[in-house]
Order: sequence, then structure tokens, then C-alpha cells
Amino acid sequence: MNSPIVRFAPSPTGLIHIGNARVALFNFLFARANHGRFILRFDDTDFARSTEAFARAIESDLAWLSVVPDAIFSQSERSAQYEAAAARLKAAGRLYPCYETPEELEKRRKIQQARGRPPVYDRAALKLSDAERSRLESDGVRPHWRFKLEPDVIEWRDLIRGDSHIDCSALSDPVLIRADGAFLYTLPSVVDDIDMRITHVIRGEDHVTNTAVQIQLFHALAPDAPPPIFAHHNLLVGASGEGLSKRTGSLSLASLRSEGYEPLAVAALATLTGSSDNVHAVRSLAELGARFDLAHVSRNPARFNPADLATLTHRTLALLEFDDVRERLAAHEIVGHKAGPLWRAARGNLERFDDILIWWRVIAGDIVPVREDPSFLAEAAQLLPTEPWDETTWLQWTDSVKTATGRKGRALFHPLRLALTAVGSGPELAALLPLIGRATARRRMID
Ligand code: GLU
Repeated sequence: MNSPIVRFAPSPTGLIHIGNARVALFNFLFARANHGRFILRFDDTDFARSTEAFARAIESDLAWLSVVPDAIFSQSERSAQYEAAAARLKAAGRLYPCYETPEELEKRRKIQQARGRPPVYDRAALKLSDAERSRLESDGVRPHWRFKLEPDVIEWRDLIRGDSHIDCSALSDPVLIRADGAFLYTLPSVVDDIDMRITHVIRGEDHVTNTAVQIQLFHALAPDAPPPIFAHHNLLVGASGEGLSKRTGSLSLASLRSEGYEPLAVAALATLTGSSDNVHAVRSLAELGARFDLAHVSRNPARFNPADLATLTHRTLALLEFDDVRERLAAHEIVGHKAGPLWRAARGNLERFDDILIWWRVIAGDIVPVREDPSFLAEAAQLLPTEPWDETTWLQWTDSVKTATGRKGRALFHPLRLALTAVGSGPELAALLPLIGRATARRRMID
């Protein structure tokens, strides 16, 4: 395949959620796997609802996922291109002015339905005479503009859904420009896809009908170039099939982040759910991308359980090497020669990344030791080996404590763990003890 160019095109009208992350990741991973380019394009022609703040939030949510765009565009800066395309469509008789009010259209739809006909726009506006049109205009009625569809069956080979077709004679001519002059999503999207030489449009299956309309627009605006290749994927839905709404902020990336879920856990769940690959933890997006294949995406709804994020977060952390987290640890001032060994000792015991702070305190800070059995602890403290310590020290020490006291199993280990770490479970003490060091260990057992 020649280097593909793909795009993720969110409207900055809210925070993006895990379902939007699915679209972004599909595009990003596809681009990376095929040495292509990934464009972030803000579909912000809806001036009333799009905000700069949401655009910046989307950028930082993507950065959190390590989804890095090769270029960023905003449709609000490209009105001239849309005007030019609209002028060409008007000149070709494919974009025509309509003057009906929403109430009128609704009334007609009801009549059509009552007669058992599909509620397709009847193109009454095309039958207006010049005189009728000028009268409406002089009455101050501003037109909205519809794209005149050819009554064709549009066919395409979808990379996920296979051979697909839509009969456009069953569709209403879509409105491309509102009465207030604002461009709806359909036309700018095609103009941009042409100008940005988008090769593959990978998006949710809620856009399948748009695709037929947009293929007609591609043919009208760029008759010499083939339209992009399309891939429509299943949408993430909750356990009972309910969809995710961007506006309610349900499962927004911002909230998942603040709940401490790992970005790679979110990425794995967003990408692998609803495919023939099992959902599993990964160490990097590259690892996720290496196995990513649009052909693995199922045609059934992608049912997911947000509760899986907790397990996936735990498993992801256990896979991360010190180099993967060095900077994040440094941001918590977890630095120096103990940082790497601590990470390796504790990574399998973390529910959230921040839990590492607990273990950092255990080896490098102050804790309040729990002393269940002071006389036993005093005896054990006397037996602490001399330094230097390493990972064999724990066994050596506890063997000698066992011999001296006759204790074994939980009666032996539990009071030592409580005194040394203040909690009843955690990483292997063989790994922690040398990091705690003799002086601190002794102090925690006897004052
Ligand atoms: N702004 C549209 C959306 O978020 C883009 C759809 C597309 O990828 O063409 O659904």
C-alpha cells in the first residue's frame, strides 16, 4: 500500500470519550502500521457549539493516549474552500436553494408517512419559478441549500463491512448549507478529504449513510480522482447495548484519566473490544498496532464493560519497564538508584500508578510501623544480618529468626511485614528489604 493518509475529525463540542478514542486509535494505528500520516481535523463549522477549550482538551486527551497527529487543521479556517466548492456545485445545478420552514417540512413528512410513502424530501424547491424565488427572498426568507442526489445505487468495498451499497433514490437531498450560511458537516468533510488527499476514511458505522452522499460529492467535486477507501467500524456500547454520548461526558477520557486508569489500558480496551483479538494488556501502542488489523473488527456491536479498565490497568502496570515510566516517576520525585529496583519490585502490586508512592514511602520515607508483637520483633531485630544487603538477605534473615524462635509461616512473616511496611500485603519483601536498608528496618522494629 502507498503511504495512507487518514484523519480523526472530532467536533470540538464536548469532551471525547472512549468511543471517540476507538476511532482515533483505529486511524492512528492504521497510519503507523502502514507508514502513513495521521491528521487531526477539527470539524468546527458549528460555531455556536464548538469551542477552543474543547479543541485543546481533545488534543491533550489524545496526547495522554500517545496518539500524536502529524498535522492539525480546523475547518473554521477553511471557509473559503467550502464557499468555492459550494459555488461549483451551484453552477453545476447540484446545490439548490430551499425555503421551507422546519414546520412545513414536518407537515409534509407526516402526510407522506400517512400515505405509506418514505419521508423523502419532495424537491418542491426545484419547481419554484424565478419569480417565486425572488418573492420569497424579498420577503426576507433566507434559503438553506440542498445537494441534488443522483438516484443511483452507490456501491463501495468497505474494509470492515465488505461490499456495501446504498440506494440514494431512497434518501432526501441532504442540506449542505443552513439558512444562516453555516456549512453542515457533509460538504466541508469531503472538501477537506480531497484537499488533504485522504486515502482511507475510517469511522463509526453511524456514518454509513453519509458515505453514499459523500461519494456522490467526491464524484461531483473531484471527478478525476477515486474517492477514498472507506472502513466503518462497530461502535462501543455498554453492557446493555446503550451508546456513549459525548455530551454527557460519560466515560470521557478526562474522567478515566482522573480515575487513574492507564492510557494503555484505555487504548487496549477501546481498540480490541469488538474484534477477533482478545482484550489484553499491552506495553506500548506500538505493540497494540503491530497486531492491529481492520479485518479483525467484528460486525457485531462492540460491547464493553468499563469495569475491565481496573484489571487492565493493573496488568498494564505489571508489564511496564522502568524506562517506560522513568519520567512519570521523576514527576513524583521518585529518582535515584532505588527508583528502578523499586519499580521492578512493586509494579505487579499496583492497582493505580500512584500506588507506587506508597511503596516509595516504605523504602525511602517515613511510615508508622505496625508492631503486633514487640518482643518477637526485638528478637528478630537482633538477628538482622550486617550489610551489604541484597535479594538473598530476606531468606537468610528469616531462616535465622525461624531457628531462633521456632516460628514459621504467617506467624513468622506477617509481623515482620507489618513492622517493615505498615501493611499486610504487597511486593516481595526479598526485593523491598535491601531497599529499606538495615538502619531503617531496625528502627521500624524497635525504637
Ligand atoms: N465530525 C464527525 C464525527 O465526529 C466526523 C465523521 C467523519 O469521520 O467523517 O462524527
